[in-house]
Amino acid sequence: MSRFTRRQFLARSLSTAAAISLAPGVEAAAGQKRHRFRKRKINTLPTSRPQNMKLTLSHFELKTKRPFTISRGTTVVQSTLIVTLEQDGIRGYGESNNYPFYGCTLENMGQALESVRGHVESRRIGDPAELWRELDPKLSGNRFAQNALDQAAWDLWGKVCGQPVWKMWGLTLDNCPPSDYTIGIDPIETMVEKLKEMPGFPVYKVKLGTKHDLEIMQALRKATDAVFRIDANQAWSPEETIEKSHALKALGVEFLEQPMLREKWKDMEKVVRESALPVIADESCETEDDVARCDGLFHGVNVKLPKCGGMTPGKRMLEDARRRGLKTMVGCFTESSVGISATAQVLPLLDYADLDGILIIANDIATGVTIDRGRVIFPKENGTGVKMLK
Ligand SMILES: [Mg+2]
Repeated sequence: MSRFTRRQFLARSLSTAAAISLAPGVEAAAGQKRHRFRKRKINTLPTSRPQNMKLTLSHFELKTKRPFTISRGTTVVQSTLIVTLEQDGIRGYGESNNYPFYGCTLENMGQALESVRGHVESRRIGDPAELWRELDPKLSGNRFAQNALDQAAWDLWGKVCGQPVWKMWGLTLDNCPPSDYTIGIDPIETMVEKLKEMPGFPVYKVKLGTKHDLEIMQALRKATDAVFRIDANQAWSPEETIEKSHALKALGVEFLEQPMLREKWKDMEKVVRESALPVIADESCETEDDVARCDGLFHGVNVKLPKCGGMTPGKRMLEDARRRGLKTMVGCFTESSVGISATAQVLPLLDYADLDGILIIANDIATGVTIDRGRVIFPKENGTGVKMLK
C-alpha cells in the first residue's frame, strides 16, 4: 500500500482538481460528443499515478567577493554543478564544484550522472543511503558526482517526509560548534583587512604556506582576540611543521590542518608526536577507508562531502572518527548555499566547522543555512533546507 504525507496528498488533490477544472472548456469545443469525451478524459487523469524521480543537471559560475588564494592557487570564479531531483512537484538539490585537483570536472561529473539516469528515473525516492549503495559501483569513480546526487536525494527525501535531515538522523541542534571564517593568502595588510571586514567570529581559519607565515599570524593576532586555526594545504615540511607549531601555539592557534603532503604518512608519526598543536587531516582523509588510516597519525579528520561521495558516507566517517576518539570537522569548497546547507546537517557530530563558502561568494544561487558571526542558523524548510533563487 502506498503511503503519502499530508503535503503529497494535498499536491495530488490540487493537481487532480486542476485537471478536472480544465474539462468544461474542452467539452464545449467537443460539441455533440461532449458526454462521451468527458467520461473518457476523467478516467485517464494523469495524477492517478505517482511520478518517478526526474534528474536535472545545471551549471553555475560562482564569483568570489575577493580573489581567494590558498597555497596551490587562486579562485576568482568557481564553476559548480547543481543536481535537481524532482518527484511529484517536490525538488531536492545537491552541489559539487568543478575541481580538477580531485579529478572531478563538470564534464566527467555529467557523464557519471548520465550513466545512472535510467536507474534514478525508474524509481521513487526512498532511503537515500539505499540509493547510494545501489549506485556506488557506478559512481565510486567520481565521488563529486556521487556527492551532488546524494545531497539532492537527502534534500528530496527530507522534504517528502516533512523533516530536516538532521532530525531524520536523530540529531539535535543543542551543541553545535560555530563555523570559522577563512582568511586566504594575500599581502599581510590585505589579510588583516579581510579579517576586519568580518568581525565577531569566535574563530578564524588562516591559510598559510608562505615565506611570511609567522609575520602574518603576528599581524592578525594584533587585530583580534579570537581563536585561530591554520590550514597550510600541504605546504610545509615535517621539520617546518614541528618548528612552527610552537610559535603558533603561543599566538593562540588551536590546531594545524594538513600541514604536509598527503603522501607523507611516515613523517606524520614524528609530527604527531612532536607538534605542539593537534594536527587535523584534510587532503589525507578523502574517503571512508582513510579514517582508519589517519587514526594514530592525526588528531582529527576534516571530512568534505564532495571528496567522500556525499552525506551518506560523510556521516558514517564522522561517526567512525568519534568512535576512534578522533576530533571531527567538516570543511567546504567555494560552494553555494546548496552544498553548505547539505554539509551543515552533520553539524551536531562535529568539534569544528568550516562552512564559510557562502560568505566568500558574491552571487549565491540559493537560500538555506546562514552564518551570523560564526553561528550557523538553520532554515525552516525541510530536507537540507535549500530553495533555489532562480
Ligand atoms: Mg583544508
